[in-house]
Amino acid sequence: MAINAITVSTYQYYINGEWKESQSGQTIDIMSPYLYEVIGKVQALTKEEVDEIIGFAHTAQKEWAKTSLQERASYLYKWADELVSRQEEIADVIMREVGKSFKDAKNEVVRTADFIRYTIEEALHMHGESMRGDSFPGGSKQKVAIVDRVPLGVVLAISPFNYPVNLAAAKIAPALMAGNAVVFKPATQGSISGTKMIEALDEAGLPKGLVGLVTGKGSVIGDYLVEHKGINMISFTGGTNTGVALAKKAAMIPLVLELGGKDPGIVCEDANLNEAAKQIISGGFSYSGQRCTAIKRVLVHENVADELVALLKAEIEKLSVGSPEDGCTVVPLIDNKSADFVQILVADALGKGAEVVIGNKREHNLIHPTLLDNVTGDMRVAWEEPFGPVLPVIRVSSEEEAIKIANESEYGLQASIFTKDVNKAFSIANKIEAGSVQINGRTERGPDHFPFIGVKNSGIGVQGIRKSIESMTREKVTVLNLA
Ligand code: NAP
Repeated sequence: MAINAITVSTYQYYINGEWKESQSGQTIDIMSPYLYEVIGKVQALTKEEVDEIIGFAHTAQKEWAKTSLQERASYLYKWADELVSRQEEIADVIMREVGKSFKDAKNEVVRTADFIRYTIEEALHMHGESMRGDSFPGGSKQKVAIVDRVPLGVVLAISPFNYPVNLAAAKIAPALMAGNAVVFKPATQGSISGTKMIEALDEAGLPKGLVGLVTGKGSVIGDYLVEHKGINMISFTGGTNTGVALAKKAAMIPLVLELGGKDPGIVCEDANLNEAAKQIISGGFSYSGQRCTAIKRVLVHENVADELVALLKAEIEKLSVGSPEDGCTVVPLIDNKSADFVQILVADALGKGAEVVIGNKREHNLIHPTLLDNVTGDMRVAWEEPFGPVLPVIRVSSEEEAIKIANESEYGLQASIFTKDVNKAFSIANKIEAGSVQINGRTERGPDHFPFIGVKNSGIGVQGIRKSIESMTREKVTVLNLA
């Protein structure tokens, strides 16, 4: 009797407007984090194929740089429309590949289309400036500078697993509108979603070679890409260790890095504790805390700590835990290794005197939402990014102590401050070393046109639609010397 084998799709890579199989003859299995089965295979590219993609990108970029903004916009509008019309199909892939609920996956696709449209509009409305020579002492009125923005060339876009469509398009769209070509390297776990997004771009009829898709393990092909002489700019989102190593190798290449975080939620004595608890739990646990801007520690005034901890526990009890197919908020982590890491952090804290308020239960790679109280500075979980559903509560005796602990972190992505006193909020916000500070709200990236900045080990450079376009261009000055 014939066995009904499950057919697993093998995805091709994208080069010069064509879909191809790698000459390596090797593919990488993509295992679903919750179905525990291989859901597809992607190509493991060779160095020669990387060279070819970069070569095609350079040729295409030269022509693309000559196109009008309106022409570039017309392609990107089609891409956004295509993503919207394929939202169900792409969301299904995201769900199966990175274990995000279908609703959140669909939101990611629609948000990406909105992002692309806003990027187009922003690029259409960005203008250079002219400067008069005589505004500088001794300068002449006969000199006029025209300051414009020109593309950098070929942008290497490297994205993480957690927003495999949105964080990739957030690099590709501004790069293209700015007149660059793109070599896109998705996270391996996320590369089927990335491939689907590129399929949508291909449907838009983009000129051949302008965008290439490189699949393959970062540990194998990453350094080769980063050090490649054909790359003119790198836009990277991912972990701090990867980003720091990459920055060293990139040497003189312009870089934007969006890295890890350890965002604190600072809860003052006068905060609306109910509201703070809601924001902290939604910020800390959505998509199992696998967000760079998840709240990753709570710094609460000791006088309200008991009450806050009880409210946080009550909010956690409301969270749905289980499969992304059931729309759960807390879902299996991306792999077993990630779940092991979370458990190591929890065990370390418990060994040093922290208490479990709720959680600390594990089934395979599903970690139940875990709240740890009485966490102290000698525990790893006070400082390290778990990228999982565990939230440490650190009790403090003053706002000054909260600021001190917040700033002792190696990270500086975002922070939240909960207080009813706006003066106090600003006074604390001014002292916090982070790219953004949220007052009475959870830490989060959006809306996407706000500048998004990581300081210290959370990154370099600025994202956010206008800022992303700026980072992928350089200023060029042409001086008119009038007779
Ligand atoms: P990761 O392991 O650092 O991987 C990120 C990307 O780098 C992947 O595409 C990976 O490819 C690639 N890579 C690995 N080694 C490389 C090398 N030697 N050279 C070039 N590229 C290489 O991060 P992740 O686990 O996907 O994402 C989670 C991390 O990203 C967390 O720390 C989170 O905080 C951070 N993050 C930050 C932001 C932000 O905006 N600040 C947003 C989202 C996530 P492979 O998958 O093939 O290894």
